[in-house]
Amino acid sequence: MKAMVLHAPRQPLRLEERPDPVAGPGEIVVRVEACAVCRTDLHVVDGDLTEPKLPLIPGHEIVGIVESCGEGVDLKPGRRVGIPWLGHTCGCCSYCESGRENLCDNPGFTGYTRDGGFASHVVADADFAFPLDGFSDPVATAPLMCAGLIGWRSLKMAGEGKRIGIYGFGAAAHIIAQVCVFEGREVYAFTRAGDEAAQALARSLGAVWTGSSEDSPPVLLDAAIIFAPVGALVPAALRAIAKGGRVVCGGIHMSDIPQFPYAILWGERQVFSVANLTRADAVEFLELAPRAGVTTTTTVYPLERANEALADLRAGRFQGAAVLVP
Ligand SMILES: [Zn+2]
Ligand SMILES: [Zn+2]
Repeated sequence: MKAMVLHAPRQPLRLEERPDPVAGPGEIVVRVEACAVCRTDLHVVDGDLTEPKLPLIPGHEIVGIVESCGEGVDLKPGRRVGIPWLGHTCGCCSYCESGRENLCDNPGFTGYTRDGGFASHVVADADFAFPLDGFSDPVATAPLMCAGLIGWRSLKMAGEGKRIGIYGFGAAAHIIAQVCVFEGREVYAFTRAGDEAAQALARSLGAVWTGSSEDSPPVLLDAAIIFAPVGALVPAALRAIAKGGRVVCGGIHMSDIPQFPYAILWGERQVFSVANLTRADAVEFLELAPRAGVTTTTTVYPLERANEALADLRAGRFQGAAVLVP
């Protein structure tokens, strides 16, 4: 198999040949068809997330075909599956036992503590792979596996309100905006000042208002989801929401949140973070996405050009999601 491998933070990934993987008990070997690039991959490569397995094959938005199965696996070879960030849980900690496996004390994360999908093949725990029988386009489907799933968990955390602000209109936002519209909500999209392309994409997906993140929306919002890794957006979003509203931080890493006056939190406004996903989130979202007619905007890179895809994500050079194809 071939893979793009991280040997140390802040170093470019290196293309390597490795022995073909073998599935252990409970595992599957998947031939990767497509793997989307997530901002979390940037945080891993840049060293913002400090405990990667090294050397590491990043990538956790994987779509591929089951090639072989280890002992005790029900999936059949030939089946298309998706492999997300949550790669394993212990099943016995207090979080796992209370339906909150996203907070497991002893988890495994694809492309962080386990090798991921920037490769021609990946080994996954079969219990954490999702059949994708109705999804015929691997490239279009790959961004659903994290941008979609984390976006969905963030939207659930935002509550039932009608007016939803979204800060940072990248991969997750462009998916979850479509779910909002499907659910009859109004989307207010905040981008970097002057990012006309992102604002145009937001309007094309049904946003009722677009502006820069410093702007005030025309009405107070019921909730705001922050996908951009920028702590200064937390007080900005608190100023944009109504009493009782929620600000949801959807990213795994954020710059520091500046000091802000208590008055913008008062009125029972709440600030949440979203951590990882549960398998229940994935089952719900993979059923909902086709029903909601979710489409994805993608830019395809050959696997060998993973470093270029990461650099383009860092610089905001494409709309929607980058997808690597081996
Ligand atoms: Zn991700
Ligand atoms: Zn656990």
